[in-house]
Amino acid sequence: MRFLSSAQFIERSQVADEFVAPSAALANRLLGARGLDRLPPCSVSYFVEELHRPGAAIGLHTKGTAEIRLNLAWLADLAQRAADPEWEVAFVVLHEYAHFVLDLLEARETGAGAVRRRIAAEHADFLSRMRRLGWLADPVSRKLLSDHNSVAEEWYCDAFAYWAAGTLPDPHAAFFDELLAGVRGLPAA
Ligand SMILES: [Zn+2]
Repeated sequence: MRFLSSAQFIERSQVADEFVAPSAALANRLLGARGLDRLPPCSVSYFVEELHRPGAAIGLHTKGTAEIRLNLAWLADLAQRAADPEWEVAFVVLHEYAHFVLDLLEARETGAGAVRRRIAAEHADFLSRMRRLGWLADPVSRKLLSDHNSVAEEWYCDAFAYWAAGTLPDPHAAFFDELLAGVRGLPAA
């Protein structure tokens, strides 16, 4: 998530909509299975940047909403090369959705900064576990250990996406269960 002054927002693209639809459905299905179906479902539109810089943002979210924008150039590239584009797009959608969920958690917190302090502590715990135990054999933990994820909020968003998919290892999965308990509904019967 970054502010991009050069980004042009695009509401609809038939080709992109068709490509993204199964991923958005997958993301909403995973959120529902996790008891988050009382929250607004994610809604996806697009953006393009004037300059396709290396490392440009691939997803954005509008603060306080479940509206997510994906970089059209990234989608076009993914369509050509990705082995599992459905999950890769769903992962980015879930990452951006996690920023929205964080907004919700912060709006409900009793003390200012409490949620961010919990996330920062969990992130620090993850980093120290990785140093001590060398979880590099675990593919999810390995992906969570990136430069991008040196920022606690971004780590939380990636971990949220794996949690939604049911692949985040403990103890972090249990942390998310607890962190999100207040916004989760009862599991579907
Ligand atoms: Zn982000």
